[in-house]
Amino acid sequence: MKIICVGRNYAAHIEELQNERPEHPVLFLKPDTSILLKKQPFFIPDFSEAVHHEVEVLVKIKKIGKHIDRKFAHKYYDEIGLGIDFTARDLQSQLKEKGLPWEKAKAFDGAAVVGKFLPKKTFESVDNINFHLEKNNETVQQANTALMLWKIDELIEYISKYFTLKIGDIIFTGTPAGVAKVNPNDILTGYLNDTQVFSIKVK
Ligand code: ZN
Repeated sequence: MKIICVGRNYAAHIEELQNERPEHPVLFLKPDTSILLKKQPFFIPDFSEAVHHEVEVLVKIKKIGKHIDRKFAHKYYDEIGLGIDFTARDLQSQLKEKGLPWEKAKAFDGAAVVGKFLPKKTFESVDNINFHLEKNNETVQQANTALMLWKIDELIEYISKYFTLKIGDIIFTGTPAGVAKVNPNDILTGYLNDTQVFSIKVK
């Protein structure tokens, strides 16, 4: 399986990092080895002084497809999840400055938290899902999928122009504002609407 991540999909997050608003979705991949194993803590890697949490809504692909029209995109998933795209921000900034790929900052072991998935039918609309991240019981990131610059079905159309989507692939749909550094002993807890879908400890 593969993980396809979308960058810069919420206006407020683009502003907080002073990035340019892209003309098309920004895409990058994470390998399956980046998935944080269930019940394991997240260990801050020794090559970064500033690992940031990025909470993101996840879409699990259930059917193989390429060149999927947005009209039919809803047929390719029936589970929605929440996760964290851990980012070694200091390393990413250096790589961005040099115009180099971001993988070392985004695709390292443990950099992808994949929470519990809920059936799509749990939600009235996938374009109106509240989600938030708590750090040590305090809300640090909060948004609604209605605020995405590119909605889930548009993302599937765009991504599948470049990459064949296969069963079990996961799309990370981008983070809203509020990204910040994690520290040892932080507890990060994610919620889709009011349902807790992950809780992890940082070490
Ligand atoms: Zn992200």
